[in-house]
Amino acid sequence: METTKCLIIGSGPAGFTAAIYTSRAGIRTIVYEGLQPGGQLTTTTTIENFPGFPDGIDGFQLMGQMKQQAVRVGADVRAGMVKAVDLSHRPFVAQLDDGRELAAEAVIIATGASAKYLGLADEQRYAGQGVSACATCDGFFYRKKVVAVVGGGDTACEEATYLSNLCSKVYMIVRKGYLRASAAMQQRVAERENIEILYNTNTVGLFGDNGVEGVHLVRGKGNDHEEPFDIAIDGFFLAIGHQPNTQFLEGQVELDAQGYVVTRDGAATSVPGVFAAGDVADPRYRQAVAAAGTGCRAALDVERFLAQADN
Ligand code: NDP
Repeated sequence: METTKCLIIGSGPAGFTAAIYTSRAGIRTIVYEGLQPGGQLTTTTTIENFPGFPDGIDGFQLMGQMKQQAVRVGADVRAGMVKAVDLSHRPFVAQLDDGRELAAEAVIIATGASAKYLGLADEQRYAGQGVSACATCDGFFYRKKVVAVVGGGDTACEEATYLSNLCSKVYMIVRKGYLRASAAMQQRVAERENIEILYNTNTVGLFGDNGVEGVHLVRGKGNDHEEPFDIAIDGFFLAIGHQPNTQFLEGQVELDAQGYVVTRDGAATSVPGVFAAGDVADPRYRQAVAAAGTGCRAALDVERFLAQADN
């Protein structure tokens, strides 16, 4: 079985930042890129909030550059998935999708989270053309335009409030007759005159010849008085939650009720020698720069852990 000092699972900003640090520290590092090489940023357009790029940078390009930097300092970046892990003893063992196994002295979990979608075919059809799951990433492109945010939780309220500073009008499409969000977040929404909440409303489709131009909705879906209606919008934002990519970790490391990896004391998980970075352990901030920061922390923790373990 092949062995390495550090295995990094995931190739978003957290995984590549961790790889840059461990590799520069002389720790033999293998990165498995996973299902979506480069992570969520490769699905956004221009990124204008990552420091160091005054003119913004394309998400795909940014991740390509992070990968190049990791490779240049010695990381072994590989296409492929880690299907399962055995973290019950060191060295830890990862099962790869090609059937092989890999043993590692330390592991950094950086598999990120995936935004939930409604599952409509139109979401795919208009991907990158008016459909987004990140207001902070893409809101800027809808300045003075009309947008809709789906969801009634804290994220939806936060995204709607953020967008209300940029857009002329923000609709919130909420399937129930009330918001699930905290009272404080609801209050912030209520204070914005340009946010209109459409309660008891479900999305059934999107339309438009040049990207999203509107959304097909149904009020009171399933009732006797179902009422289909359309509204004109320029952007459609999903905010119905995120799913951490931790299915392969069940029973191996402590996860919270939502499935996020629980970290304490920096990037440490419940298993000594296993660390977590980025969105997989962060339901709150979910920003590329924050993920990169925790990737750095995880790498420094690995360095310290291996130095102690080797003595
Ligand atoms: P939540 O799970 O809290 O809310 C999801 C929302 O999306 C709910 O309104 C839900 O509706 C709706 N929804 C889910 N699936 C569908 C669907 N298929 N169609 C239509 N609507 C749907 O997720 P959040 O991302 O908002 O929050 C996740 C966690 O992060 C929470 O614990 C939250 O408190 C926290 N958070 C905290 C923040 C803060 O404190 N500043 C900011 C952001 C998040 P329904 O209510 O009907 O189920």
